[in-house]
Amino acid sequence: MNQSKPCIICVAITGSVPTKDNNPNIPVSIMEQIESTQEAFEAGASIVHCHVRDEGGRPTSDPDRFFQLKDGIRKYCPGMIIQFSTGGRSGSGKERGGMLHIGPEMASLSVGSNNFPSRVYENPPDLVDWLARQMLELDVRPEIEAFDLSHIHQAAAMFQEGLIRHVPYIQFVMGVKNAMPADRDVFEYYVKTVDRLLPGAEWCGAGIGRFQRVVNEWCVELGGHTRTGMEDNIRVSKEKLAVSNAELVEIATELCFQYGRPVASWQQAREILKIPLKT
Ligand code: MG
Repeated sequence: MNQSKPCIICVAITGSVPTKDNNPNIPVSIMEQIESTQEAFEAGASIVHCHVRDEGGRPTSDPDRFFQLKDGIRKYCPGMIIQFSTGGRSGSGKERGGMLHIGPEMASLSVGSNNFPSRVYENPPDLVDWLARQMLELDVRPEIEAFDLSHIHQAAAMFQEGLIRHVPYIQFVMGVKNAMPADRDVFEYYVKTVDRLLPGAEWCGAGIGRFQRVVNEWCVELGGHTRTGMEDNIRVSKEKLAVSNAELVEIATELCFQYGRPVASWQQAREILKIPLKT
């Protein structure tokens, strides 16, 4: 394992599910989101994963809001890699990619369907194909969300086809109820499969809810990158709600310290993922 490799920390600041009733510290307005991102950036995050909410706090795919958020992050977190979510909770069908023209440097891309806690997370092949082509055309780097082993195989097939270019970036998502649990053996097999099917690719992991910390640890230990933030988990312990996204980022940076991994600066993150700064 290459423990000298810098670990890229992504912070998923808001998401589309948790509300201020779940944790009043969740940033919901654009101003709160920008402030929270700045704190997380200063704590060591170099990628921000963004969803936006409307005035009522409900998830939306409103491009104006994405524009304002991107603008603020650009100003207060210079160099940070901005990733928009094209996940299914903020819109349906092509709405999910309706803000890609705003020019984030990255966007999440789910390449297959699976179950979520109370519904099917639908990612039909034609929509996946359309989103991937939009990203290619607009020079937005996809982060492939692997909720399942088949999604890693799908990413490899898309790379072969030229639908994904540059350095493929695969994120293993574990701990969503009714989808893949946080399972160490499976996690190791995911890593092995990425190395086999997509040599030269980079990978990261996101653990949902109480699995956030353990998945952070596996990522750091096994030489990958990792994601944290209040979209995935609103607590620092069973008893205590997180006060900020930065607090969760600090848990990940502490793990890097324990395992002797440097935390990637935004410059290092861009170098590793070959993502030039967009202006
Ligand atoms: Mg998301």
